Amino acid sequence: MRPSCATIDLDALRANYLLAQRLAGARTLAVVKADAYGHGAIACAKALEPLADGFAVAFLEEALPLRTSGIRSPIVLLEGAFDPGELEAAAELDLWPVVHHEAQLRMLELAPRRPRRVWIKINSGMNRTGFAPREAPNVWRRLQALPGLEPPVWMTHFACADDPCSTMTLEQIRRFHGGVAGLPGETSLANSAALLAWPQARGDWARPGILLYGGNPLLTGAEPGEAASLRPVMRLTSKVFATRRLAPGEALGYGATFIAERPVRVGLVAIGYADGYPRHAPTGTPVAVAGRRTRLIGRVSMDMLTVDLTPLPEDVGLGAAVELWGETVSVDEVARAAGTISYELLCHVKRVQRLHRGTELTP
Ligand SMILES: *Cc1c(COP(=O)(O)O)cnc(C)c1O
Repeated sequence: MRPSCATIDLDALRANYLLAQRLAGARTLAVVKADAYGHGAIACAKALEPLADGFAVAFLEEALPLRTSGIRSPIVLLEGAFDPGELEAAAELDLWPVVHHEAQLRMLELAPRRPRRVWIKINSGMNRTGFAPREAPNVWRRLQALPGLEPPVWMTHFACADDPCSTMTLEQIRRFHGGVAGLPGETSLANSAALLAWPQARGDWARPGILLYGGNPLLTGAEPGEAASLRPVMRLTSKVFATRRLAPGEALGYGATFIAERPVRVGLVAIGYADGYPRHAPTGTPVAVAGRRTRLIGRVSMDMLTVDLTPLPEDVGLGAAVELWGETVSVDEVARAAGTISYELLCHVKRVQRLHRGTELTP
């Protein structure tokens, strides 16, 4: 079998969740949308269920397998219902949909059967979804008219929480509280970046995603602070399945983008962009071979990529273990080199075996 694997450390996931919960000082939803950012939503939710206050997914189809596999905690649908039938399903399965615009609120008012609780999204400046802060009292009046609904959770989402120097987050917090102050219900503001950088964004419910998986969402240059204690959850690994030597002047791979300036020892690694490794990662992107850091060279192909073995001892060659990201090379470093964010790399992983490791917790 091709030796390419994503190993998911469920103990690290739980440690990161506990860190998030400590930072939040409040109930904390584990965001497991997009198959838990590529880590396997069912396995991750089962590992977290004894600790977690609840979960969040993007939409109904992501919540169904969690309920089917026995997850009983609250589950928030971050995009809410797409049609009236979904509100009924949410009611049936005790899912908490977000309501973020007029059409969704109408749907809720007309629904024959409603979920027990909804989350109302307030647009505090990101200008994607959400009611204007000044509309909140009116939304509350309309909710009050609906029998069987508990007071909502008022939520908002930040555009720039990853930038500790931006003034936008404080402005968003101000606008949000300006809209919902005095209304019954609870609040939810913080994503991962806000938990790490903005203690002012505390509320009754936090919503960390990437932090659970060990990604640091803060822009480079920000103080690592609590992010320094995050543990990587996914290790993406493969092996060197062939080696070759390039003489000075010889080219490597598609586009001949890498030309050896001196003799170069090349390792071919059995993973490529069809597995989710970013094709845009340039020569120089860090990679670990036999536990030592070296660099990617040449263009990433669909099924393989090439690494520089020249700086490593001669006996590191055929069969050597390769870590694309994980303990030795962080997914954030690879993302930065490839001009993207860890979120995208993690949720694109596919075609490799996925193994979950960790101590079984007895509930
Ligand atoms: C995805 C998402 C989150 C989690 O964001 P992270 O940056 O991964 O912590 C929180 N809130 C909402 C509304 C989201 O869509």
